[in-house]
Amino acid sequence: MTPSAIIQECPQCAASITGDSRFVMWCPECEWNLSRPDRDRPSTRPGPLARLRNRLDARFAADLHRQVLGSGVGTPSRDPGRIAAYALASAVHLFALSMLVGGVWLLVATWPSPFGAVFGVAGVGFAYLARPRFGRLDGDAPALTRQEAPVLYDLLDRVAREAGAPPVDVVLVDGEVNASARTVGLRGTHVLTIGLPLWQILEPQERIALLAHEMGHFSNGDARRMRYVGSAIATLYEIHGAAARQRVRGSLGAIAIAIVVNILTGLIRLLVLGLIMILESLTYRESQLAEYAADDRAARIASPVAVAGVMDKLITKAPAADRHLESAAHRGGDLWEGMREYMAGFPEAEEERLRRLARLERVRVDATHPPTHLRAAFAVSRAYGAATIVVTDDEMERVQAELDAAAGRIAREIADRARAALYE
Ligand SMILES: [Zn+2]
Ligand SMILES: [Zn+2]
Repeated sequence: MTPSAIIQECPQCAASITGDSRFVMWCPECEWNLSRPDRDRPSTRPGPLARLRNRLDARFAADLHRQVLGSGVGTPSRDPGRIAAYALASAVHLFALSMLVGGVWLLVATWPSPFGAVFGVAGVGFAYLARPRFGRLDGDAPALTRQEAPVLYDLLDRVAREAGAPPVDVVLVDGEVNASARTVGLRGTHVLTIGLPLWQILEPQERIALLAHEMGHFSNGDARRMRYVGSAIATLYEIHGAAARQRVRGSLGAIAIAIVVNILTGLIRLLVLGLIMILESLTYRESQLAEYAADDRAARIASPVAVAGVMDKLITKAPAADRHLESAAHRGGDLWEGMREYMAGFPEAEEERLRRLARLERVRVDATHPPTHLRAAFAVSRAYGAATIVVTDDEMERVQAELDAAAGRIAREIADRARAALYE
């Protein structure tokens, strides 16, 4: 498949531009048509509130970036924001625990008083709703075991040692253009998820950078902290739901009681919403700092250039691969072979357009991440020399072969998902 090249004159600056009929025509000289919205992404003008939030967010991202460029990421465990979040989350967890203890005490101490029974059961019930949730592995993609993928696990062990992280317990491979590290279950099983499409588009050393970044989250305790603070936020939402408004009706006495109760629950809701906002804004800043810290480790282990390479792929090839897989899944054929061909023929001009657009729109992985181009700039600013872990081609090929065992299953899953989306 040879895409038809188009040469035309830029309507804005009259420069000659060469493009590809499959992609947006734009001008690298004057950036004409740079941010033409994609056909599948209708543009809606943001309202004043969204624009204000956008501006504040841009300033926040720039400030944090300046901070990490100037004084590094520091020691995450000594970060004042992190300590404050831990303290506040602990208070919430203690409150839930006191409801459990108080509820049981009321039940036992006042038995068989109906007052004690009602409030005791309410306390225990609340504590149940607010219980810490540790997550489970059920329903996820089948795990790739150490026996099935010895070379991959060996590599992971090496990266984990270098990052000061505990070894990975479970590796999952899925069809996302992404990767993630989390802990699940009461014992805190370390789970690494590798998105096969993302893995495929990365160069060998960029793959090490990706693994080192995820291991960095484990060594910095991000997964554990997110679970701890996250479940406190979930508890607060439970309290908010429990303190619902009463309907005001019935006799005069009932109306008076309902009004008093509503004033009380209103105050509780206000307090709880305030706490949620504080915890969420602390988490917002912290999670972005955690990404920089993980990038810092990855830069030391895999080299700054490799980390910047991953960031560039996240901006350019990753969204392209995502969109390609979605449409290719409908057409059938070998999904992975098709993707390799498509990526090999992906034009540099389109990559450059996506790069400039990412800077303009501050594209990022999600709200927990700083803008990707700022992460790339941070990575190359790190004064780390050569990589501390380098793999041979032979080793990477063996890792690839182990991951490829899951390729067929994942291709089927992507096709199923695409079909399901058609009938939505
Ligand atoms: Zn132009
Ligand atoms: Zn991360």
